[in-house]
Amino acid sequence: MPAYRARALVLKKTKLGETDLIITLFSEAGKQLRAIAKGARRPGSKLGAHLELYSVVDLLLHTGRTLDVITEARSWVTNEGCRKDIEHSAGAAVVVELLDKVSRDNDTETRLFPLSLEALRCIGDIQRCGIELIAAAYILKATAQLGYRPALLSCAVCGSLVNMVAGGKVAFSLLEGGVQCQACKSSGYLDTTVLMDTNRLLWVQTLLQGRFLELEGYCVEEDAHLGLSMLDFAQRWLHSHLAINLKALDFLISLDA
Ligand SMILES: [Zn+2]
Repeated sequence: MPAYRARALVLKKTKLGETDLIITLFSEAGKQLRAIAKGARRPGSKLGAHLELYSVVDLLLHTGRTLDVITEARSWVTNEGCRKDIEHSAGAAVVVELLDKVSRDNDTETRLFPLSLEALRCIGDIQRCGIELIAAAYILKATAQLGYRPALLSCAVCGSLVNMVAGGKVAFSLLEGGVQCQACKSSGYLDTTVLMDTNRLLWVQTLLQGRFLELEGYCVEEDAHLGLSMLDFAQRWLHSHLAINLKALDFLISLDA
């Protein structure tokens, strides 16, 4: 059995037999790995202790006939804060479910690895009131890395500059991928256009452009609606362009009800 090493994020754990686990991981190389951890559910298993959800691990694996086998695992980043309560765990679950879905059938963007690690670090550190905003930022940034970034500064039809005035409204089409100038809107090129608050779109832009470290500063206790509004936008955007629905996202939103 040839051996290889990999650094990877733990996405999912599935029970196998009496004491084993199948671990789904997303590797630094942008690939999904599924491997068996033998005996990982035995009390006191060293292997099991390192293979916590949301943690990043350095692995030694051996190639198996169907699934590879994890023979060594050492935590690199534990992301403990992501497991401390149901809200933090719900935020982190959005990150791993999205990674699981986009990497299931194809190798994907290697940049998703550092982006996801930074999002999990941030979710683990932040107060509860900021989790929704960070989860929304992650979805928008990840979707942008996969090639779907909303056009917010220039018209999605003709490319001319669109001036977004704070407090106003602007024509926006989810399906066509962005804002529309007055001329294109009047010409009726798109039939999927809605009028959207520019403030909402300016926040979308902030989430796309800002580093997670900066976004941590926007803890929104005084504006509880913002996190939900951004999650709602991110969910629609993700569904329109990648046809993905995340159960973890529905759950995170339901916690706010
Ligand atoms: Zn236009």
